[in-house]
Amino acid sequence: MSIATHLYGQSLAARLLDAAAGRPVQAYLLVGPARTGKRLAAQLFVQALCCSFRDDPPCGACESCRAVAGGYFPDWHLWEPDPTKKKRTIKIEQIRHIQRLSAQHPLAAPYQVLQVNEAQAMELEAAQCFLKTLEEPAPHTIHLLVATSTVGILPTILSRCQLVPLHLVPAATIAGELQTHFGSGREQAQDLAVKAQGRIGWAIASARNEEPAASTGDNVADWPEGRLDATRLAEKWLQRSPEELVASLQHFQRLLYAKGVQNEGLSWAGLEALQLCEGAIADLQHFVSPKLTLEVTLARLAKVAAEVKQ
Ligand SMILES: [Zn+2]
Repeated sequence: MSIATHLYGQSLAARLLDAAAGRPVQAYLLVGPARTGKRLAAQLFVQALCCSFRDDPPCGACESCRAVAGGYFPDWHLWEPDPTKKKRTIKIEQIRHIQRLSAQHPLAAPYQVLQVNEAQAMELEAAQCFLKTLEEPAPHTIHLLVATSTVGILPTILSRCQLVPLHLVPAATIAGELQTHFGSGREQAQDLAVKAQGRIGWAIASARNEEPAASTGDNVADWPEGRLDATRLAEKWLQRSPEELVASLQHFQRLLYAKGVQNEGLSWAGLEALQLCEGAIADLQHFVSPKLTLEVTLARLAKVAAEVKQ
């Protein structure tokens, strides 16, 4: 097997990573729009680097491959912005941790992989510290940056990373992959492929019913172009647990981000909607009544959507 066997719709990235797994360099940047498969690509790359079988890795079945897939592999470390903070950034303390680990030897595999998700959100101080870490290479340590854009990443960091681009995937390709690998019928595959707007990761998760909003038919995907019936949506969402509500709001945020990436920037309405979602998630996490939170948030979202249409 190879990375290309499992990374659907991203043949260029898969080819680059398959080639890199044999003789990895010090740092990689996986860059592409939200929900296009970056994190899966990162996981497959770590498996390929650490797989016990060196012929055409990853095998997917050895102890290392299974531990990576299960998220408990000791030589794979992950950092990302603190989800509980309003301002989602990578902080200097997180990079200092990376710097300390960087010099250490891996425990179980030939390499240790230090991965930073949402790398474009590194604070300046953190980025400068990360650059220093890259300037002191350790032969057994591979740095893996994952980002939605190269904007916001220091050019001096970029120049030290091998770029692995992931793209929005054509609808016909998404539909084909859903039918071939995920058991979708023709109609469902085509429907999801259109809604995905290139985001194959979203389409696959939806086909597997892993997306709470998609699987229950909420029409927020088209916001603000689509209608947002706040009362009806509130009634439906209120049947969910607070955890599911947070997941639904986060899903909506991802859709907004994806739309922003496609349009090279979020509209003011998109930004306002993101802020409303942030506030609602914070309220839910601080045990404010879900009913109250939803009624207020959805009504405001509907208002923003209505203003856009005028
Ligand atoms: Zn393996």
